[in-house]
Amino acid sequence: MLCGRCGALLGEKAAPMPVFCRKCDDYHFERAFAAGIYEKALAAEVSALKAADHLSPAIRSTIRKSLDLHSGKITGDMVVPVPLSKLRRVERGFNQAETIAVAVAKILKIPVDAMSLTRTVHTPIHRVGMDQKARELTVEKAFAVIRPNLIKDKNIVLVDDVMTSGATTSACAKALKKAGSGRVTVFTLARAVLQ
Ligand SMILES: [Zn+2]
Repeated sequence: MLCGRCGALLGEKAAPMPVFCRKCDDYHFERAFAAGIYEKALAAEVSALKAADHLSPAIRSTIRKSLDLHSGKITGDMVVPVPLSKLRRVERGFNQAETIAVAVAKILKIPVDAMSLTRTVHTPIHRVGMDQKARELTVEKAFAVIRPNLIKDKNIVLVDDVMTSGATTSACAKALKKAGSGRVTVFTLARAVLQ
């Protein structure tokens, strides 16, 4: 049973009708989809992807199957990865969300725009002790569109590796909409289960 809007796992049983978590009511994207739950093989793949800029054939196949499953729902004019801050991008040498975005764009046969949306604030990776509200406030103003002419009136498929609360993707969607984008549909490799 998944939230019909943000895809949060709400229980093991299938729901007879659409259910909504309600926590995502104020989020700025329209829908969010994930290729799987953040556990076991997928969790290992997500951490491997942070170390090396490479998607395994198994993960490519998982992405393809998920896009096929939601065929017609995950659509747009272009794919935009959730950006890293400049500092983190330099430290890591690549953006793992962009690696996934390239694979998604290839399957959907639409372009990738990894330049227009930027992360303006460097948020520390370890935010121990911060509750969800504090994390949301930190990411709320962390994104900006620097080339709005490329975003205006475009429907966007926003891609990240993992979605936890959805605050980050919502903040990205907010920045995209502020720049005049159309629909924002989120696709992530994995959905973390909130405890
Ligand atoms: Zn929801």
